Amino acid sequence: MGNPRDRELGMNRPITRRDFISGLAVGIGGASLIAGCGPGEPTTTPDPGLEKVKGYYPPARTGLRGSHDGSFESAHMLKDGGISLDGAVDRRETYDLVVVGGGISGLAAAHYFRQQAGPNAKILVLDNHDDFGGHARRNEFAHNGRTYIGYGGTQSIDSPAPYSATAKALINDLGIDVSRYQQVLDSGLYKSLGLSGGVFFDKETFGADTLVVGSSRNASKAFLAQTPLPPAIQQQIIQLNTEQRDIWPGLSSADKKARLARMSYTDFVTKEWKLDPQVVSLYQTRTHGLFGFGVDAVPAQDAFGLNLPGFQGMQLEPGAGPGQNHDSIRSAEAEDYYFHFPDGNASVARLLVRKLVPAAVPGTTADDIVTATIDYARLDDSASPARIRLNSTVVKVAHDGPAASAASVTVQYLRGNTLYKVQGKACVLACWHHVIPHICGELPETQLTALRYARKVPLVYTNVFIRQWTAFETLKVNSVSSPGMWHGSANLDIPVSLGGYTHTKSPDQPVVIHMSKAACKPGLPGPAQHVAGRAELLQTSFETIERGIRDQLGRMLGGGGFDPAGDILAITVNRWPHGYAYQYNSLADPFWIEGGEQPCAVARKPYGRIAIANSDAGAYAYTDAAIDHGYRAVQELTARNSRP
Ligand SMILES: Cc1cc2nc3c(=O)[nH]c(=O)nc-3n(C[C@H](O)[C@H](O)[C@H](O)COP(=O)(O)OP(=O)(O)OC[C@H]3O[C@@H](n4cnc5c(N)ncnc54)[C@H](O)[C@@H]3O)c2cc1C
Repeated sequence: MGNPRDRELGMNRPITRRDFISGLAVGIGGASLIAGCGPGEPTTTPDPGLEKVKGYYPPARTGLRGSHDGSFESAHMLKDGGISLDGAVDRRETYDLVVVGGGISGLAAAHYFRQQAGPNAKILVLDNHDDFGGHARRNEFAHNGRTYIGYGGTQSIDSPAPYSATAKALINDLGIDVSRYQQVLDSGLYKSLGLSGGVFFDKETFGADTLVVGSSRNASKAFLAQTPLPPAIQQQIIQLNTEQRDIWPGLSSADKKARLARMSYTDFVTKEWKLDPQVVSLYQTRTHGLFGFGVDAVPAQDAFGLNLPGFQGMQLEPGAGPGQNHDSIRSAEAEDYYFHFPDGNASVARLLVRKLVPAAVPGTTADDIVTATIDYARLDDSASPARIRLNSTVVKVAHDGPAASAASVTVQYLRGNTLYKVQGKACVLACWHHVIPHICGELPETQLTALRYARKVPLVYTNVFIRQWTAFETLKVNSVSSPGMWHGSANLDIPVSLGGYTHTKSPDQPVVIHMSKAACKPGLPGPAQHVAGRAELLQTSFETIERGIRDQLGRMLGGGGFDPAGDILAITVNRWPHGYAYQYNSLADPFWIEGGEQPCAVARKPYGRIAIANSDAGAYAYTDAAIDHGYRAVQELTARNSRP
């Protein structure tokens, strides 16, 4: 800590910097040693599990979360061929259904199966993380006797296309009334303090650190005049926003859209409008939250759908064009179907768990779920027909005999360094599709190829818990985008009060700041950007990320008196190297515009007693897809069982 800048930033302050989850391996390995059994020696000795230890409560963990240390190493070793699958300890447990993956899709599949097979159906959900919910992750911060809640992944019930009848029915069944959102949201809070959006221009990208209140969306002359952008660039931005120019006057709207679908927005601005690349720097990250990469890899037609400038004079018909991504197709019905819990859709996951293992989740309503303290010790309880087993990475799923006639499926999983096996009469693979070829190699080759197509979008959702937000009040901002920095945005918490939870109301009170990052590498084709971003996330230490957060917040908010050393109470970095389901787009996926079978349709085919769920099954990165495909997978298993 000799570095004075580090001291200034508070790198020496006592906040939790790591999750010592690797302690889990010791705990579980220890359990099998206590029983006197190593791999290969069948045992019925119960696995006591770290989850039963008093104080096991993952939402309260800070430091590096999301795909936390200890959650992915087994899967990566499996991929690299470094795991021996011999001699699994037989748990001598047979379930009616084993679900691989405890995200919303897997939990929904378990719920639907239970609905159909009855409350005594024996179900086991296995997940590699120390918490359930998959991307729907809850973060908590305790301070002076109060708990502050943040979302570490899936932010809201929110989808570009309307929820299906199936997904809506589940949301209703869980007791969630989305029409109440405006009642629980304090929509006037930040406005009442005169706060609005802002953009932080960093010196590395734009030449000088400058915070400008307002939005780059309309890029008014007054807004641009405050930025460090050179006057000539400002002028070009105004031109791009206001000039009624049609770059292809002779073409029909459909033909223009077909062309726009085949070029990036960057090319549209620099090659068709012939503007300076610096113009694009203002818009570069605008698509990060949806595509996981910037406008250099986003089709111009999608940029049109997302209201980026430059199309106002082109007389394009409203509505979707061929090859347009779901995210850029507007639907008023979908926009109205929105709800945000303080922990995002972790509340949806918690409500599903309440249905499956009621003893673990106190309360009865979708309001009281917000403050419910889950009893993790009861999630995997032999007294409960449905069980959720965390910290368990499935490494092999195989029918016990030919898929067409086998009566069961054996599922092997690693907890710590011990390999276990259980049997299921049926199995839903609700895990990430790119994992399936490594754990279920008996699927047909065409299906394995299609499963491998499902890339994942690497993302980071960081929650920074701060002592007070007076700096935001002073600077008159509540959400700041930072197109040149590691985290592309920093927002004050969405002010929702629900059940017994009350959001922070006064700037002198602690609050959770939400920061997000799409890990990508501009210049590469979209899917290659995800690969590079994933590698970056896996190689970046918490210390490096923390230093960046402190530096970024200090520079953005320092003018309002923010002191990163004194104001930051805790940091939780939810790292998701395997984030959103990959959604097809017209630049990277030829079939998306030219037609032909989509890989996800081949990937999700049932096989014997195995059905396949997850939002990857729809190539659609939204909770409704997770639910819909959990439902479909169970219907396929039921249809198979009802066949003579
Ligand atoms: C940062 C972020 C923000 C998002 N925001 C939104 C939003 O606001 N609204 C929205 O609708 N959607 C959002 N999403 C998309 C979100 O992924 C879906 O909504 C939904 O939660 C996906 O659920 P799922 O069950 O299909 O997949 P996941 O949540 O990924 O669950 C799959 C689970 O399977 C586990 N698994 C994988 N391999 C194995 C194995 N071998 N053994 C055991 N377990 C395994 C995974 O670790 C994971 O826990 C967001 C996603 C991310 C990453």
